[in-house]
Order: sequence, then structure tokens, then C-alpha cells
Amino acid sequence: MRNRKDWDTYFMDIAYMASTRSQCSRRHVGTVLVQGKKLLGTAYNGAPMGVPDCSEAGCMLVEEIELKVVEDKEEVIRKQRCIRTIHAEQNLLLFTDREDREGSTVYVTDQPCWTCANMLANSGVTEIVFHRGYPKDHEKVSSLMLARGITFRRMEAYEPPAGTISEVIN
Ligand SMILES: [Zn+2]
Ligand SMILES: [Zn+2]
Repeated sequence: MRNRKDWDTYFMDIAYMASTRSQCSRRHVGTVLVQGKKLLGTAYNGAPMGVPDCSEAGCMLVEEIELKVVEDKEEVIRKQRCIRTIHAEQNLLLFTDREDREGSTVYVTDQPCWTCANMLANSGVTEIVFHRGYPKDHEKVSSLMLARGITFRRMEAYEPPAGTISEVIN
């Protein structure tokens, strides 16, 4: 028998394909909306249509301060983040219909940030599957999904298709 891809792998592969369209040099995120086994939409992070994107205008960076507790000591970590792009998950919500989303699954290459998770929690989606972790928002996003009864799971053993991961600055 031919080694056929399971559905999780199939849809996550498509999310990774979508992520290659991103022009942000800091983060390439792709996502797909699936109802049953039907693909209803794909999206990636990018500037609004008709507006110069990160490859043309450069990333629009803001500095954020994060508090992290390491060995009982609070550490202040400064991080830069690009705010030029609309996040992949938000674009997916902008380009799909509420009706289509009821009871659907979102596959996303990266664990959603807090804002995207909050929007997804109110979008009709009932399952979120991601691959790469995002430790910063993990706890609050997980408890939000639990409170909303949304299945939230990571594909641990998954390997993205060759050529879909590009160098990003972190
Ligand atoms: Zn950018
Ligand atoms: Zn986000």
C-alpha cells in the first residue's frame, strides 16, 4: 500500500505552503480553515492589500517588554515585534464566512498569539491544531480554549514539507 498522508499532515502541509507567501522577514505563518475534510480557506500574515509589505517597506518594529520568572527571579526581556502585518489567523477570519466556520478546524503553523486566540475563540471554530509553539502566550491561550471547549492541540511529531521553512530573524 502507498504511504498516504493522514489528514492532519495533509492540512498542516497546506498551512506551511501558505506561510511561504508571507513577506515578513521576522515571521512566516500560514493557516487553513477546514470543515469536515473540506478546505475552506487559506491565509498567511501580511500587510493589507495594496499597501507596501515588509519586503518593500521593511518591518514595522515595536519593542515589547516581557516579564519572565527564571529560578524565582523576575527577568525583564526586551523583544522586537513586527506590527506591519495582519496575523494569518486574523486574515483567515477576514476572508471566510461565519457560517462556514461553525464547527470547523483551523490548522496553523504557529501557536496563535493571545489576540488571535481571543478572536478564534469567538469565531465559531471548535478545534485549533498548531505545530510550532509560542511559549509566551501558551498558558493563557490554553486556559481560554479550555474555558471555551475548543480542542487545542499540537502536532508534536510533524515535519514540515521541504522548502517551506525560510530563515527568519527572531
Ligand atoms: Zn514584518
Ligand atoms: Zn496572532
